Amino acid sequence: MKVIYCPFCNDLMKLTRAEVRSCKCGRVKGAYNQDGDTVWYNGVGRLYGVNNKDLALGVKDIPGDAPGGVSVSTSGQLDRKP
Ligand SMILES: [Zn+2]
Repeated sequence: MKVIYCPFCNDLMKLTRAEVRSCKCGRVKGAYNQDGDTVWYNGVGRLYGVNNKDLALGVKDIPGDAPGGVSVSTSGQLDRKP
């Protein structure tokens, strides 16, 4: 999976093959190309490739029903919000 991040509105969007996606402020746009593997984006945002299996393993222990949710620090430590 490929996602793009907008540094202006902090939106993170999963790119799709079906449509061009835009962040909340409209400055970052992108989508998959017709080859279904490569992507284009307008260059304002930051592109990240995420391995789907690694993501599934990384989030399996994060409780989805924690009050207020959880955040993950850059060190990988989970912080639960009260
Ligand atoms: Zn934005």
